[in-house]
Amino acid sequence: MAKYRINTANQAETEKFAEHFGGQLRGGEVIVLVGDVGAGKTTFMRGLARGAGSKDRVSSPTFTVSNIYSSPKINLYHYDFYRLDDFQIIKGELEEVISMPNNSVILEWAEEVESTLPEDHIKINIVTTSQDGRNFKIFIPEKFNYRKVEE
Ligand code: ADP
Ligand code: MG
Repeated sequence: MAKYRINTANQAETEKFAEHFGGQLRGGEVIVLVGDVGAGKTTFMRGLARGAGSKDRVSSPTFTVSNIYSSPKINLYHYDFYRLDDFQIIKGELEEVISMPNNSVILEWAEEVESTLPEDHIKINIVTTSQDGRNFKIFIPEKFNYRKVEE
């Protein structure tokens, strides 16, 4: 398991970092975003999709539960379970979506479905450090071969 930390000073920096990350997606990844409301999970997703080459507009799926963005190589499935009460109704779909090699699956508020996720998933913890400051802690299983941002 590789661990990285990165601090961003504003939204644009978060999106830039997420873009770099998104450029490395090949399909088959499951990414769990952890952080309070307003931490920047959806903002990270926005940069991620752009980096993966998607031109689709990224919005919060808090009310729709899921959004799908397409890119030239992969589909990005963006879930937000904040308002979901019954996780049983989503588990079957989630397992199927995860099983498809062309899909990258990104989840917000996924604690309740942890048991449904592959053990080898990427976890990103986001903490608000000041009004515009955010701290990212990233845990990446070795099999993903992530290349760190040049500093
Ligand atoms: P979440 O999905 O975690 O609830 P959002 O991404 O929807 O959070 O919202 C994050 C909010 O915080 C946005 O209004 C964004 O402009 C703001 N923000 C301020 N600084 C940052 C930063 N460094 N990274 C990400 N978002 C930031
Ligand atoms: Mg969100």
